[in-house]
Amino acid sequence: MAVPQRRTSKTRKRLRRTHFKLKVTGLVECPHCGELIRSHTVCPKCGYYNGKEVVHHEEKK
Ligand SMILES: [Zn+2]
Repeated sequence: MAVPQRRTSKTRKRLRRTHFKLKVTGLVECPHCGELIRSHTVCPKCGYYNGKEVVHHEEKK
């Protein structure tokens, strides 16, 4: 079995991990109301998808 010659130091490990960070993906602006929404999803605010109103909301107070 292949075994690493040296143990990865704390610094090396941490340096490597500076490249992996959590990132919000697929978050876009709704073309209808400008709200930040997940792409390929009906906008929860205005109910628009692909330029059409798919879900009708009652006016909120
Ligand atoms: Zn919208």
